[in-house]
Amino acid sequence: MKLQCKFLPQEDGRCGWYETLPPPPPATPLRGEVKADWVVLGAGLAGLAAARRLAELQPEASIALVEARRIGFGSAGRNSGFMIDLPHDLSSHDYTGERERDLRQIRLNRGAIDYMRETVRRHGIDCDWREEGKLHGAARKQGVRSLQAFAAGLSSLGESFRELDADEMEAATGTRFYLAGLHAPGCVLVQPAALVRGLGQTLPENVRVFEESPVQHIEVGSPHVLITAQGRLTAPRLVLANNAYAAQFGQLGLKGRLLPIYTYASLTRPLDADEAVRLGGEDSWALIPADPMGTTVRRLADGRLCIRNSFTYNPRISTSSGQLARVRAAHRRAFARRFPILPNVTFDYTWGGALCLSRNGGRPFGEIAPGVYSALCQNALGLTGGTIAGKLVAEHALGVESELLDIMRAQPEPAANPPEPLLGLGVRSALAWKELQAGIER
Ligand SMILES: Cc1cc2nc3c(=O)[nH]c(=O)nc-3n(C[C@H](O)[C@H](O)[C@H](O)COP(=O)(O)OP(=O)(O)OC[C@H]3O[C@@H](n4cnc5c(N)ncnc54)[C@H](O)[C@@H]3O)c2cc1C
Repeated sequence: MKLQCKFLPQEDGRCGWYETLPPPPPATPLRGEVKADWVVLGAGLAGLAAARRLAELQPEASIALVEARRIGFGSAGRNSGFMIDLPHDLSSHDYTGERERDLRQIRLNRGAIDYMRETVRRHGIDCDWREEGKLHGAARKQGVRSLQAFAAGLSSLGESFRELDADEMEAATGTRFYLAGLHAPGCVLVQPAALVRGLGQTLPENVRVFEESPVQHIEVGSPHVLITAQGRLTAPRLVLANNAYAAQFGQLGLKGRLLPIYTYASLTRPLDADEAVRLGGEDSWALIPADPMGTTVRRLADGRLCIRNSFTYNPRISTSSGQLARVRAAHRRAFARRFPILPNVTFDYTWGGALCLSRNGGRPFGEIAPGVYSALCQNALGLTGGTIAGKLVAEHALGVESELLDIMRAQPEPAANPPEPLLGLGVRSALAWKELQAGIER
């Protein structure tokens, strides 16, 4: 079986998280013939966790981790940096769903946070790791009702949280934009590009990392062969951790089930001292909108603000300058609504990145073809979902049993969808309708 990687990771705008880091040391691309016991495709959260865990469990094995760009350049370094412990169902109106499923989700998410915390501490990874929790903010009555439903859902799950009124929201964020809010303490905040770069630089010695090595096609067989412009990587076992990019693998039954959805963020310049005083609020906070289609906001300790909104369906897994200009305008409107007292604060960076969603929240996990393992489809919870999928797929492949692994294996397969062009029409109109309904929460 031959898997074509027709759609390869692109520039997709300038990512502020990545560009505000010092330049990385030169990359080692794949050149010539390389053989390994394992090859992991994609060095995002899932690929980094899979490679690390395989290496921890099999210190004598050779593991190759192959990445199209630099580590931290892709979605794993482009996200808003919320390591979310709670359910985060974007298709719901209040993030929660069926109780037992939510409880299982929380266990997986916390398993990921524990593993990441231990890795970050052990290696001293400098990624602005903050155990500060997240705010949820509602800007209108409908949002307040969604927050109340979220609070009721959290109570039934036995989760702690604190409700905030408009004054308390202003004290935290500096803006009067939010009518009400809620603080959930278990979310960890990170600088995502610094986190994944640090993970890549501290892998065990039996992992060889090949960056700037886009895999053009894969000959699935015994062994598997991954072909790049300058090299061939051969290994009997392959872990797919290329997330949205696996949506093009029709032969593995993933096409039409995995949906490559883009979302976008902008990062302002740092506020000057006057602006910081005028805004007030805490120095660092992170807010999730009451409506899942709304605007996520972070204030960073260096005085920048990060805005994220807009979802688009991009089956070619890339965005365009026109699309980036439109979302930047949407970010400006969202910024002006929340921070009218900061009219002169410009955006330094705007970028997009791919999520991988399935219609039913399912994911293909485990051995999906002989010697091919999947850690794909994080359904927007990439920091925790990708980490735990990568860690557990390694444990599954090596027979290390646990309750978390049982939970992961029991998740449903991603649901099938109608073929194109119906699929595109359906996804685009559903996203447009939900964004319209989000109103000023966006
Ligand atoms: C703006 C934005 C905000 C977000 N906010 C959050 C958030 O706050 N919290 C959260 O949990 N999630 C968030 N997400 C989602 C999160 O970033 C993703 O879910 C996460 O990155 C998925 O991790 P992954 O390792 O599965 O995939 P990815 O991070 O996409 O990694 C896949 C890797 O595979 C590589 N690859 C693909 N094809 C090839 C090839 N042919 N050859 C070699 N390499 C290849 C890619 O370059 C990429 O590095 C956000 C995403 C975006 C874009």
